[in-house]
Amino acid sequence: MEFTTQELSSIAKNFADLFEQKIVDKGERRISVIEHDLRASLQKLAQLIMAELLVELEPERENRIDCECGGELAFERRRGAKIKSSFGWVSYERDCYGGCVCGQGKSPLDESLGIEPGKISPELARLLALVGVELPYEASSQLVEEFLLLHLSENSIREETQRFGQYQVEREERLIEQTEDEVYLQERLRSFSEKEYPQRLYGSLDGAHTRIEDPEETEKWREVKVGCWYEVEVVSPSQRNSRHRKQEEIGQQALRAKKQQYYCDIQSVDEFAPLFWARACQARADFARELVFLGDGAKWIWKLVEHFFPNAVQIVDWFHAEERLEKVAKDAFGNAEKRDAWLEESRSALWEGDVEFVIRACHQLSKVSREAADAETYFENNKKRMRYDRFREKGYMIGSGTVESACKQIVSQRLRCSGAQWKVEGARLTAKARAARLSKNKDWQFLSSMRAGLPLAA
Ligand SMILES: [Zn+2]
Repeated sequence: MEFTTQELSSIAKNFADLFEQKIVDKGERRISVIEHDLRASLQKLAQLIMAELLVELEPERENRIDCECGGELAFERRRGAKIKSSFGWVSYERDCYGGCVCGQGKSPLDESLGIEPGKISPELARLLALVGVELPYEASSQLVEEFLLLHLSENSIREETQRFGQYQVEREERLIEQTEDEVYLQERLRSFSEKEYPQRLYGSLDGAHTRIEDPEETEKWREVKVGCWYEVEVVSPSQRNSRHRKQEEIGQQALRAKKQQYYCDIQSVDEFAPLFWARACQARADFARELVFLGDGAKWIWKLVEHFFPNAVQIVDWFHAEERLEKVAKDAFGNAEKRDAWLEESRSALWEGDVEFVIRACHQLSKVSREAADAETYFENNKKRMRYDRFREKGYMIGSGTVESACKQIVSQRLRCSGAQWKVEGARLTAKARAARLSKNKDWQFLSSMRAGLPLAA
């Protein structure tokens, strides 16, 4: 729905005349003040327009209408109500019916438009959740006030954001139920043609801790497990940034992730497994011609991958492996020159896929360095996941940053930002809402539709 300039020009002219009078009365000549006052006035106008519209949209009055219970309701009277919209409170009147034996009343206008009287409108809710997934709730409240000229408490924004997270929980629960049902899985198998199977699909999993301030919880830190399904594309020369050029310098193709689908939870591995499988099915990982999995060295990650996708290519994210070498070098050498030489040599051996060399190099330092001893075990346990020479030859993304950035974007940037204090459930729901928002599928639109009480497309 859009208006032409022509359609609105006479209204604009009238409004401008009114507004100009106010400016003259006030003696105001600063554009900043004029613009701000105009925003406030338009907001007030929008409130009135919305109230008028609601009257216009009232369904035709009837003497009797059906009640949910199967009984009958009779017209009683017009009653006032209000909703908190993105323009502020809108007050309106509508027909109300009552008198059924069940004691329930009804307003056909509210029902047909999906209005919950006294509550926040779906559109305002969507905007609040959008800010709430980005910023701490207190900062959200301040930002909303500037942008919408409305005061909304920290609590309202928290509530709306976490409601989006709760909707995501409900969607995921449904998905888990479906993907544990053999009949559903068989039907699903028939519903896709082979052309729709992903060629090369990537998965990543990671965990990061967040602090919990809950007197009822014994653990102060809980691990948020974050997963991502995605595809990879070659970055065109004109779009390459300094990170891509650096990749190219060391002989790695400039690659980047696309179509990311994020999911997360605060659970044990066993509790998390059904979600892992459900979201894998949603990404069609079980149909993928080739599945590449990136993670750090954490055992739970590879346990899950091996259980559900024994044929997946497993890769320890290059950045994690490299970081490990840096830790050893720092711990084992006091002399900067020796440290750099050791690091340089083992890093290039690792890059060439010579993990045995790296294991020996760590072993030699294991008597003097605890880090080196631990790293030796780490490289030994993960050596088949570090054949970086082969992985590069195949064109796999070996150090996506996606593993890190999924956790970084969800846990570090939102849950761990300063001023944030969490109970487990609040952290969990906020993280889920944020994961949906960051995903490049339709997750966020689905949640918005659920908030608006609209039927879901799929
Ligand atoms: Zn009834």
